[in-house]
Amino acid sequence: MECTRCGACCVAPDIAALDKPLGLRCPHLSPDNLCTVYDCRPQVCRDYTPDWVCRAIEAPTLDERVSRYLALFELTDEAAEVRSSGCRSMRAARG
Ligand code: SF4
Ligand code: SF4
Repeated sequence: MECTRCGACCVAPDIAALDKPLGLRCPHLSPDNLCTVYDCRPQVCRDYTPDWVCRAIEAPTLDERVSRYLALFELTDEAAEVRSSGCRSMRAARG
């Protein structure tokens, strides 16, 4: 499976190496869904390869793909909690 650069894997999962919570956009992801720190991205991002999940979450919009990802791994409620409570480190990273 080829990566379609859909951006979902930089939004949906939590990424400990980046202190990135579940369901929130990585602050290093550009508006057109490209990694702005590609050359120094963490190992976990380097190791990520497109697989069946990419196909399973295919949808017209990024929001829909992220929702599908979260539903697939039964993380919808957890992600909603993160969204409602916010995340200090992400706010700092974005600021
Ligand atoms: S979810 Fe899959 S297809 Fe989309 S950007 Fe990530 S690896 Fe590529
Ligand atoms: S560092 Fe780059 S590849 Fe890794 S999650 Fe963020 S935008 Fe995606």
